[in-house]
Amino acid sequence: MTEYQSMPTRDSQRTLQLADEIRRVATRCWNIMEICGGQTHAIMQYGLDQLLPPEINLIHGPGCPVCVTSLEAIETALQIAQQPGVIFTSFGDMLRVPGTSQDLFGARASGADVRVVYSPFEAVKIAQSNPDKQVVFFAIGFETTVPSIAASLIHAQRNQIQNFSILPANVLVPPAIRAILSSPNNQVNAFLAAGHVCAVMGYTEYEPLAEEFSCPIVVTGFKPDELLTGILMTIHQLETGTARVENAYGRVVTKGGNLTAQTMIRTVFKPVDRQWRGIGTIPLSGLGLRSAFSAFDAVRRFQVDASPVAESSVCIAGQVLTGVAKPPDCPAFGKACTPTSPLGAPMVSSEGACAAYYRYQKAN
Ligand code: SF4
Repeated sequence: MTEYQSMPTRDSQRTLQLADEIRRVATRCWNIMEICGGQTHAIMQYGLDQLLPPEINLIHGPGCPVCVTSLEAIETALQIAQQPGVIFTSFGDMLRVPGTSQDLFGARASGADVRVVYSPFEAVKIAQSNPDKQVVFFAIGFETTVPSIAASLIHAQRNQIQNFSILPANVLVPPAIRAILSSPNNQVNAFLAAGHVCAVMGYTEYEPLAEEFSCPIVVTGFKPDELLTGILMTIHQLETGTARVENAYGRVVTKGGNLTAQTMIRTVFKPVDRQWRGIGTIPLSGLGLRSAFSAFDAVRRFQVDASPVAESSVCIAGQVLTGVAKPPDCPAFGKACTPTSPLGAPMVSSEGACAAYYRYQKAN
């Protein structure tokens, strides 16, 4: 039994109506990528992929912040966390992501002071309470999490909190879409853009991508009817040969986004090239600190060896994150790699595609 069958009657009827409409409108095969890991989980949780006609192939994108954080960033985090006098803080999921030989949990077990926080401001408070320690926050995530990180740095600068710094590893969605569409292996015909990212950034920066690559992009929410509405709108565009940005999440997203949040981001950060785990370097896809805030850069503050490190030969996360393969295509899926013994980040994170397939396919 899929969970859409246990939704309130009105919601499940709407969901089934939308699936019928998609079946009626689609005349050929289309590959549609949902960028966001939260959307991937909702699709798997509610069995939406099973409601769709076989012509509609949902491809899961690289929108899981934990999954795309590079091995180099994790190794740097481990090196900093193990230095004397450091309190290393991070969102919880990052602690279980494997580095080359251990994860941050392992570092904690070996004596490093590694703490889970729920916001960067919590890390700032830890710094204020521990003036004799250096407190570092592992700054991962997409545009959604960046405003709070920027606000914490503005606060730290204003209040001269000098024992706080961040390890910058934030990433941006539009350059990732460009990289996927530019790849010779690209199979994606249309995108569902992540509603919460667009709530911050708006959606004007997606318009040049839709036009240049003739690729429909629909800003989409996270509930079953919102996801199916977004899918239906992309299929309408694909079937009629149009390619523009549409907003199916108007109750939350405006075209311009949250201007206050964007100003904070621009004040603190600038676009930089960034390494994505399993994918490689994507130009201008990350955020680095502007010179006015560079004193808060943990990489400058601590001695770290940032040499390149080799990815696991077993894990095909790069193919999963770019939609070239699905988690069950990985030989390790559900065997050598499970949520209790993950080989790669997509099996660790609550937003990872491998974890979603493992959890919901096994449950159905
Ligand atoms: S199942 Fe595990 S090993 Fe395979 S791609 Fe996913 S995370 Fe990597």
